[in-house]
Amino acid sequence: MARRSEDRCSFCGRSRNEVNLLISGENAFICDECAAQANKIVEEAFRSLETRQADNLNLDDLPKPKDIKKFLDGYVIGQDDAKRNLSVAVYNHYKRILQPRSKDDVEIEKSNIIMVGRTGTGKTLLAKTIARMLNVPFAIVDATVLTEAGYVGEDIESILTRLLQACDYNVKQAERGIVFIDEIDKIARKGDNPSITRDVSGEGVQQGLLKLLEGSKVGVPPQGGRKHPEQKLIEVDTTNILFICGGAFDGIEQKIAARLNTRSVGFATDDKQVQVDRNNLLQYITPADLKKFGLIPEIIGRLPILTYLQPLDAEALKRILTEPKNAITKQYVKLFKMDGIDLTIDPEVYQLIVDKAIEFKLGARGLRAITESIMMDAMFNMPSEAEKKLHITLEYAQKELAKANLERMRVA
Ligand code: ADP
Repeated sequence: MARRSEDRCSFCGRSRNEVNLLISGENAFICDECAAQANKIVEEAFRSLETRQADNLNLDDLPKPKDIKKFLDGYVIGQDDAKRNLSVAVYNHYKRILQPRSKDDVEIEKSNIIMVGRTGTGKTLLAKTIARMLNVPFAIVDATVLTEAGYVGEDIESILTRLLQACDYNVKQAERGIVFIDEIDKIARKGDNPSITRDVSGEGVQQGLLKLLEGSKVGVPPQGGRKHPEQKLIEVDTTNILFICGGAFDGIEQKIAARLNTRSVGFATDDKQVQVDRNNLLQYITPADLKKFGLIPEIIGRLPILTYLQPLDAEALKRILTEPKNAITKQYVKLFKMDGIDLTIDPEVYQLIVDKAIEFKLGARGLRAITESIMMDAMFNMPSEAEKKLHITLEYAQKELAKANLERMRVA
């Protein structure tokens, strides 16, 4: 259509000269401002549709605990106890959301979860994978950045800022989301006894957290950080938000051992003596051990599902390298494939990567860095070369690793 100055926006009626941009259609025009306005309306409509879809959650569509566990198996190696516990807790959580308004007096309570296990054993990965499966907003926050009001750091409520950001500030969706609070052990108070002097880092933060865990309406600073008097707060109801907490609880094994030791060799269940497996004491963890570590009883009470993750042995590390749906080696195969290069790896190379991860105490997190070091030269050179095959032998891997300075990554 030819540009004419008498053309007008078919929505607001302004002429071409009165607007920045006039877009022409078959028999109509729209100006930049009306287009922006229309875009807003479309976004709003989609948003309320999504909210309605979230409202339409129904029990038949919910994955059953066995389905959840199976999904987790695709991404997380081992950790069967944690997976079973999580699957049931998450299923019950959504049943709770769907519970009919009580005619009886039975009200299903919230099943927030606490996972105890060394760092790098899969706590975050489990929480992330669950959220991915359920397609609900998910946020990871680190308990160490939290402080009580009045001290430097972030306010407790900023935990929910992340959740809001994860769903584009759709409050309704956020109110059904999952929050993973990492390093919960770092806000333990030092020791079992309430201190007389106030313990800034620990107890106050736990008290603040309690409010979120038990379900209440809180004012959330939209940009996180500290609350400013001039900042408009967004009200979020935490009643249906599932909180999953994780922590390494360094040294808790000694507390468990001490408790178990007080009962001679093993401990009795129904007259049978059960032999204690000293290599994996976490499996015997109880809420009492968390209390001894310094979590306040009210917090422990709000985290009724207590589960543990096992340390990863060489066998598990090897499986992590190759088995999960997005296993590290599969990712490299894909990366090379995009350049038309076929990557193959000898099985002994996996053993070498695992041995190095153990030697430098890097755990599962180190697997990626070590593999990256082995692949680095090839990733740099091959995209500009004619060779379309890369076969990694033990010898090649050792040579590449010798060049990389793994020592700098060593965890003391
Ligand atoms: P945590 O939260 O326990 O400190 P993460 O879940 O962040 O540990 O694990 C770090 C990384 O190590 C993950 O991103 C994943 O690549 C790998 N990883 C750890 N544990 C497992 C596991 N059990 N199965 C598969 N991958 C794992």
